Amino acid sequence: MKKAYVISTGTELITGETLDTNSVYISEKLTDLGIKVIGKSTVGDTREFIYNAFVDALEQADIVVSTGGLGPTTDDLTKEVACEVMDVKMELIDEELERLKEFFARRNREMPECNKKQAMFPKGAVRLKNYKGTASGMYLIKDGKAVILLPGPPAEMSSMFDNEVIPLLKRDFSLSISKAVQKTIKVFGLGESQIEEKMADIINNSRGVNIALLARQGEVYIKLTVENESGEDSEKILEEIAGEIEERIGEYIYGFTDDTLSSVVAKLARKRNINLAFAESCTGGLLAKMITDLPGSSEYFWGGVVTYSNEAKEKILGVKSQTLSTYGAVSEETAREMLKGILELSGAQMGAAITGIAGPGGGSEKKPVGLVYIAVGSLERNVVKKMNFAGDREIVRILSAKTALDLIRRELLRGEI
Ligand code: AMP
Ligand code: MG
Repeated sequence: MKKAYVISTGTELITGETLDTNSVYISEKLTDLGIKVIGKSTVGDTREFIYNAFVDALEQADIVVSTGGLGPTTDDLTKEVACEVMDVKMELIDEELERLKEFFARRNREMPECNKKQAMFPKGAVRLKNYKGTASGMYLIKDGKAVILLPGPPAEMSSMFDNEVIPLLKRDFSLSISKAVQKTIKVFGLGESQIEEKMADIINNSRGVNIALLARQGEVYIKLTVENESGEDSEKILEEIAGEIEERIGEYIYGFTDDTLSSVVAKLARKRNINLAFAESCTGGLLAKMITDLPGSSEYFWGGVVTYSNEAKEKILGVKSQTLSTYGAVSEETAREMLKGILELSGAQMGAAITGIAGPGGGSEKKPVGLVYIAVGSLERNVVKKMNFAGDREIVRILSAKTALDLIRRELLRGEI
């Protein structure tokens, strides 16, 4: 398996000003290509540290991918330092210079002198097209090792990686042969440690399959990767292990690899020809957002209302004022009446209603922050689930919406509505 190292450059990344999302993107793509990412480093715009990072990376890996520092200014050093480490000289490439001049001319601007350095490349380097900015990337193979330099802005980096880098890596490293076989099992409603406990023996006897548990905002991804290159057999072993895990985790598994909670709900609702409607309080429309993130959701989503105040709950959903005063807005009774209200208003077969305390304020001893009631179902058949989520406002809202989606998924699977 080929080994890769990822370097992110930029002072803003090490001061915490900017989150280094590029290396996450690159690592994920490299892994998907069957390349083993053995490490990554983040360095500021300092010559010495960039130099050391490339030396280290080239010592250990076959492929080094960096992002950032391809701009025209003096703190953009990556290309010249990388070339120094590789011991190759740069020269002015006329074609690149023309391209830059044109870029500026099209915007009715004079090209600043400093941009000229973006047209400098070593002989033999592949210049990677940038469809979204001025900095071309660089792909150079020397002594069997690839050094790949990409720009920092995430949109420029990702389109360059997908369109330019992947075909070159496939060509130069015969990647189709050594592609890692992968499958991700997606779980909602169980914690990492609970999952690990349930499948401890599978993890201990994983027959060459790497099993990684990744926690993602209330979800856990069980990522299976076969790392040996023997091909045929590995797929079989992977499916075997996946089957064993499915048996253990059962209904908590909502999907695989590219599935999301909303895409699974969408698929089921479509298949069952069921229309959904939501009434949301503390999530402020997040549940509706999640379901409408998918194109074509009008086929199964009637719509939703955000009833944040008691008045809105009464006027729009017909929640009784007595219910609100007796049990409070955050209660099982209110959640149930909100559900009834949205089902009657919409005529949808299945609904969801969420009411809770997202915090940071508004909690009490009896009703702490994170207390959320979620009602899901039809007029005849519904459940109200009481949840006590831990975390800040954002997390409580995300977990509330995801729990609602999961309850809808389970209800749709049960097939009684
Ligand atoms: P640069 O190409 O180094 O001039 O970077 C341009 C801009 O891209 C920076 O100001 C950041 O906002 C962004 N950027 C650079 N590196 C990263 C990274 N690793 N992850 C996310 N954004 C980045
Ligand atoms: Mg920079």
